[in-house]
Amino acid sequence: MNLSDSVKELKGVGEQTLKKLNRLDIYTIEDLLYHFPRDYEDRSEIKKIEEITFNEINTIIAQVSALPQNIKKGNLILTKVRIKDETGSIFAVWYGQPYLKKHFKPNDSYIFTGKVLYKYGEIQMESPEYELNNGKEVLSFGRIIPVYPSTYKLSQKLIRQMIYQAIKETKNQLTEFLPKWIRKKYQLADYNYSMLNIHFPQSRESFFIARRRLVFEELFLLQTGLLRIKNKIKNNKKAIKFEDVEEVNDLIRHLPFELTQAQLRVINEIKKDMLSDRSMNRLVQGDVGSGKTIIAALALYMAVKNNYQGVMMAPTEVLANQHYQSLLSLFEKENINIGLLTGSLTKKNKELLLKEIEEGRIDIVIGTHALIQEKVAFKSLGLVITDEQHRFGVEQRRLLFEKGKNPDVLVMTATPIPRTLALILYGDLDISIIDELPPGRQKVDTYCVNTSYRERIYRFIKKELASGRQAYVICPAVEESDIEGLQSVIQYTEQIKKVFNEYKVCFLHGKMKAKEKQEIMEAFQKGEIDLLVSTTVIEVGVNVPNASIMLIENAERFGLSQLHQLRGRVGRGKHKSYCILVTDSDNKITKERMKVMTKSNNGFEISETDLLLRGPGEFFGTRQHGLPDLKIANLYKDMDILKEVQEASKELLSLDPDLKAEEHYLLKEKINKFFEEKTKNISL
Ligand code: ADP
Ligand code: MG
Repeated sequence: MNLSDSVKELKGVGEQTLKKLNRLDIYTIEDLLYHFPRDYEDRSEIKKIEEITFNEINTIIAQVSALPQNIKKGNLILTKVRIKDETGSIFAVWYGQPYLKKHFKPNDSYIFTGKVLYKYGEIQMESPEYELNNGKEVLSFGRIIPVYPSTYKLSQKLIRQMIYQAIKETKNQLTEFLPKWIRKKYQLADYNYSMLNIHFPQSRESFFIARRRLVFEELFLLQTGLLRIKNKIKNNKKAIKFEDVEEVNDLIRHLPFELTQAQLRVINEIKKDMLSDRSMNRLVQGDVGSGKTIIAALALYMAVKNNYQGVMMAPTEVLANQHYQSLLSLFEKENINIGLLTGSLTKKNKELLLKEIEEGRIDIVIGTHALIQEKVAFKSLGLVITDEQHRFGVEQRRLLFEKGKNPDVLVMTATPIPRTLALILYGDLDISIIDELPPGRQKVDTYCVNTSYRERIYRFIKKELASGRQAYVICPAVEESDIEGLQSVIQYTEQIKKVFNEYKVCFLHGKMKAKEKQEIMEAFQKGEIDLLVSTTVIEVGVNVPNASIMLIENAERFGLSQLHQLRGRVGRGKHKSYCILVTDSDNKITKERMKVMTKSNNGFEISETDLLLRGPGEFFGTRQHGLPDLKIANLYKDMDILKEVQEASKELLSLDPDLKAEEHYLLKEKINKFFEEKTKNISL
């Protein structure tokens, strides 16, 4: 049997089982080996019946001592089997499995594992797992037993058997791919040993040894793969050395507001990078509304004053347009030409703009993905900025970077991520954090209610609109769907127009044409629209300080960080602002999540809680960043191993950047396989 063979080759895998395995993304024997246990049960201790502890899981070897009985209990059939050893006898009981009656024959000996209870004056082992004790190799007992993750009704026993068979049959085929010097230096166990012991540990100790190697392996493939991609973007070559210009300070003095201490600090950090002849590779992280745009603008200004061009890429047209407008007004009195490049330009205008950019008549270009899709060429690009960088892939960032000759790079994000992941993703970036909101920002008061409050909420919104404010309503869907109770933008707008007939109500969603979206956003920005019903297209970056209230329908449908981003659309000006979460869900976790939203306004705190409640895989796991799934490493717990991995990874790549050496060949293959074609979507 080969690692690349289909799991069909295994004993007992028919069409049904194959389908179920495929749903778990398991196709080959190798996939199956990487289906790691989520937990273990220690069944290494086999007890005598007289030694059993009640209310706990016990493992015993016992003989069937009488014919099994099926007893009707309400709607269910209870199957009861008396079992004994030389120290006593108890009952094994199962519900709803009447066929078991025929399965157990008196005098047959089994190993049973299950919880033992004292019930109705009897000692009962409830729904035990069992295996014939016939002197053959026993898989599920007398050892530490793996428990596998959710399995579409594949029984634990079957998975265990399949994996055991796979391991046995491929035992010597797991060819070591970690270079010997790394295994030695970091004391990592051998591949075959680790695979066997992660599934069927001989002891606790061997489990830890196996896990360490597999975690190291996984993080190492991830980190080395990422570093190789990044080395393509990163340049330690000499970069542009900008001159300090007094105009930047003038501009800061003439801003309509005073910069916060945090903003000033970050600007200084950026300035230092730009003034040095080393390339800038800086990530600016700051909660929603912390004022990242002005920082980008000042950096662009500095580039322009040095006779270089600057470019800023944003993930949506709405946002690109907004940045364009703010730069226009910020540089109103300056002699600076700004261009906006998005997919919705007419062909003629686009060609004109491209020409101007190429000839250097445009100083600053704001745009969407169009910036990298179109044949944009710059005359002298000195600074590249990506806003909301988590929405872009590394490949996209690289394409933008390559529009210049070693331009300085700035990336901005509001999305907090766990420290381990940040290190993996941004390990090579310098990080600036804006940990302060502009003064006068009031906390957005957040409430969670059920749909019976809708009338009252509408009255409240009307009061806000009457005093000149604007409002958002967020719905999860665009159009009506089969899902009961799911609010959709189009139908909702129809209904709410009747309630708010004296106000201007419009809607916005991702399926609209770019031009329409832009018109709506502009009108909302100018205050011509009072109430905007929208999907999450307004989630990133949109800034309308006069909007003071947001109503979020089906709040249970959104992730906490997404809710936080959405809520960040209000409370951006001087007005007291409100966010109302509407949900009819009774789910306990939903309630917890909503409670966090009503209590906290801090993005980092909120994401931490989200993580605790939802688990890392779903939200802040690697998936959101387009990275390959992690199967064993834990982004929260494996910090120590990560540090070693980073050291090893750097050393390896400095020795052999292209992994050309013979002893690195298998590793290179493995990395390529790990990433496959996915790298385009990775955001770093
Ligand atoms: P984000 O960090 O979410 O991108 P923005 O850059 O959009 O935030 O800024 C949000 C709002 O705060 C904008 O209206 C901006 O003009 C304003 N702002 C930024 N910095 C300050 C400051 N220091 N004082 C007052 N208002 C500020
Ligand atoms: Mg922003």
